[in-house]
Amino acid sequence: MKIAVLPGDGIGPEIVAQAVKVLKALASDGLKVELEEAPIGGAGYDAAGDPLPDATMKLAQDADAVLLGAVGGWQYDSLPRPMRPEQGLLRIRKGMNVFANLRPALLYPELASASTLKPEVVSGLDIMIVRELTGDIYFGQPRGIQVNDKGEREGVNTMRYCESEIRRIAKVGYEIAMKRGKKLCSVDKANVLETTELWREIVTGMNQDYPEVELSHMYVDNAAMQLVRAPKQFDVMITGNIFGDILSDEASMLTGSIGMLPSASLDANNKGLYEPSHGSAPDIAGKDIANPLATILSVAMMLRYTFNSEEGATRIENAVKKVLAQGYRTADIYTDGTRKASCSEMGAAVVAAL
Ligand code: NAD
Repeated sequence: MKIAVLPGDGIGPEIVAQAVKVLKALASDGLKVELEEAPIGGAGYDAAGDPLPDATMKLAQDADAVLLGAVGGWQYDSLPRPMRPEQGLLRIRKGMNVFANLRPALLYPELASASTLKPEVVSGLDIMIVRELTGDIYFGQPRGIQVNDKGEREGVNTMRYCESEIRRIAKVGYEIAMKRGKKLCSVDKANVLETTELWREIVTGMNQDYPEVELSHMYVDNAAMQLVRAPKQFDVMITGNIFGDILSDEASMLTGSIGMLPSASLDANNKGLYEPSHGSAPDIAGKDIANPLATILSVAMMLRYTFNSEEGATRIENAVKKVLAQGYRTADIYTDGTRKASCSEMGAAVVAAL
């Protein structure tokens, strides 16, 4: 397994170092991994004058999977837009053609009090949101701000999905549902938007290829409400780019802690870019206090979705559950009576629990 390791900026290098420790521990048990590191984001700009140096893109393209920390930092905010760290991220996602973004919202029982919702509403929560990442109103043409025939400025964006784009993301949704609870909820706004009427029709048609999956449909406004009313009704949710952007952030907050949330972005061959859902947290960078669990759990997703190793993925997830049960907490999830751990101590605890 060839893995490109791109630590990035801020807390990126600290959290990625812990995930690498986990990969190396699995390697010492027989997992065949080859790791190579390269700069991205501000680190790419510093090293090669580009937030995504050519050598980094090539490494990512040649690898089977990419592990990324985070990018961004105040020292780069005044650079021209194409040189800013975030551009490195957008370009690598595009260059790798990753169109399926998977964001789990899983609540560990030990952290139930971190959620803003009542423990009985969220305990046992385990949702996977599958968001389409490369189409929809974010990319559709025409777009722009123009002057209309009345001489007034108007903004235009176009919601657009073609059949093949819907089919490939729906396939990801169905296949993930098959690996989980076999329940798929497709989120759209088919009552008013033709784009999502087509979406609903295609997703429904594909159900015959996955007869074991129980398919339901929900309008996005209702889905937003149900996520806070009764989130445990969901197993896998599948939706377009803009609805997924909003719903996945909403769902992530059900779990209460941004430092716990991994993500995966997959291409058509399940090659993936794996990264925590949070940013580079410049406010706590270099202090060895960041929570590395989102990054470590991203490695578990890598084993499950790119390397098809359910066993390896479960091993990491169980190790994380164990350290939480043992009381280890980084500062962001610390509460009285638990054991405060630094970023590197948390990484070491996970390795020990493996
Ligand atoms: P952020 O996610 O970096 O931080 C938000 C808050 O959460 C901060 O208080 C931070 O300390 C805390 N936090 C984040 N991750 C944590 C962790 N693992 N452990 C403990 N606490 C954690 O978002 P922001 O402050 O809006 O952005 C900071 C920088 O990150 C900006 O430059 C932004 O552009 C960039 N960013 C990058 C990505 C990415 O690389 N995917 C995503 C979002 C933001």
